[in-house]
Amino acid sequence: MLTGEQYLASLDDGRATYFEGERVHDLPGHPLLGPAARTVAGGYDWLATQAVDGRSPLATVPANPEELRHMVDVVHHAGMMAHVTYTSIMTLATAGGRIADTAPQYLEPINACIEHAHASDVRITQCITDAKGDRSRPPLKQDDPDAYVHVVDRQRDGVVVRGAKLHITGASLGHELLTIPTKAMKAGEEDYAIAALIPVNSPGVKIINTTYATRHHDVRDFPISGNGAAPEGFVVLDDVFVPNERILLDGEVALAAVFAHSLGLWERLGGLSGMADGADLLVGFAQLIAEANGLGGEAHIKEKISEMIIHATVIRACLEAALSNAESGPLGAAFPNELYTNAGKYTGAANYHLMVRHLHDIAGGAILTAPSIADLEHPETGPLIRKYMGTREGVDGEYRTRLFHAIRDLTADAYGGWQAVTNIQAGGGLYAQRIVTRKHYDLDAAKQHALAAAGLT
Ligand SMILES: Cc1cc2nc3c(=O)[nH]c(=O)nc-3n(C[C@H](O)[C@H](O)[C@H](O)COP(=O)(O)OP(=O)(O)OC[C@H]3O[C@@H](n4cnc5c(N)ncnc54)[C@H](O)[C@@H]3O)c2cc1C
Repeated sequence: MLTGEQYLASLDDGRATYFEGERVHDLPGHPLLGPAARTVAGGYDWLATQAVDGRSPLATVPANPEELRHMVDVVHHAGMMAHVTYTSIMTLATAGGRIADTAPQYLEPINACIEHAHASDVRITQCITDAKGDRSRPPLKQDDPDAYVHVVDRQRDGVVVRGAKLHITGASLGHELLTIPTKAMKAGEEDYAIAALIPVNSPGVKIINTTYATRHHDVRDFPISGNGAAPEGFVVLDDVFVPNERILLDGEVALAAVFAHSLGLWERLGGLSGMADGADLLVGFAQLIAEANGLGGEAHIKEKISEMIIHATVIRACLEAALSNAESGPLGAAFPNELYTNAGKYTGAANYHLMVRHLHDIAGGAILTAPSIADLEHPETGPLIRKYMGTREGVDGEYRTRLFHAIRDLTADAYGGWQAVTNIQAGGGLYAQRIVTRKHYDLDAAKQHALAAAGLT
């Protein structure tokens, strides 16, 4: 297993990564991207304390619902890059099982990539979302043929791919890009049915970063984003050579969507587990700030918090149902239940903005206007802030000010904006979750039930 220090050193591998008009040569030393890299290093060190037979727990294939629940907790604790890596490994295992009968020639490279991930303890990011050009047109009808990643040259020992994968969480902080088709492909689109594991430092890979980590020099005002939010990567594959042993699918259009579908399940399970904790966090902040404001017993405040509690409980119930109803699949692995995973992720995403509205409604305007910690420390302004931000005995001004900072950072500032959009879009938008939920719901049984109730059977 890599140590955190070894991980940080491994990022110095010639990768072409950019931020706001400059190439980044020292990721760990970068003022905005560095804290995120160090958070990943911390995740490596923590995972070392959880090693199983000398290997990272990320090599564990859960065999039953209890092991699956344990892995969800481990991965959640280990952070974003552990989450995307575990999701990628389980995607490869899931997809391998699903194509074993129809395209067995890919099992060897798929299993070799899984073994490489385990043996080298690398971090893998999930590259699904293409640039997509005009959304109403398929790949071959786009003005620019590179709107979807495709093969542009075939050589004896591999292929050359071109295109872009957008919004790739943590792309610059990983070692490998699991690059898979974003959707099903049709006959004639064989060059677009390409899946591969591509090293981040391959010639032709360029990653343009954005981040919502705080830019404020005093991170005490940003207790959540100040810990280093993972950057998003705009990943360009500018004629990248992929050797044969790294090709996981090439040309089988009927199988193009297998990887994305396999990934969707694991990605949404991670999203659902994050949402369950996130919903509890919103409830906790709502209750704390209501009490600090002296309104913990007020009827309309209690009603809103009750609604937030119901939301948080439903999300957690879906997570529990997805884990308890895990199904057995390829490699004897336990798979989260698709129906509960997708219905829960959808419910969490669709109602997130309403829960944030309740929190903002309850908390008051100081979410935006609470003075900084530095102002609290100033000899002239500090006592005044304590006096006017305090509400009653036991609620001093600094405590209440810090609560407001956390609420702003989580829900109303740059990182809060990232949270709002991420809840909706990451793991596929609401539409995708509606489709999968509908696919797995027993609609016929519901119709029979309704017919019986109407006396029509
Ligand atoms: C913070 C963040 C992190 C992310 N991380 C990752 C990641 O790590 N890896 C990754 O691969 N992706 C990632 N995503 C991408 C995410 O999965 C996509 O944003 C999402 O699938 C929507 O794709 P899009 O952004 O291209 O929007 P669009 O596809 O343009 O969708 C916008 C709207 O148009 C609708 N729409 C699109 N096409 C059609 C059509 N043909 N017909 C009808 N309606 C249509 C959609 O349903 C949606 O309502 C991330 C996104 C965010 C915001």
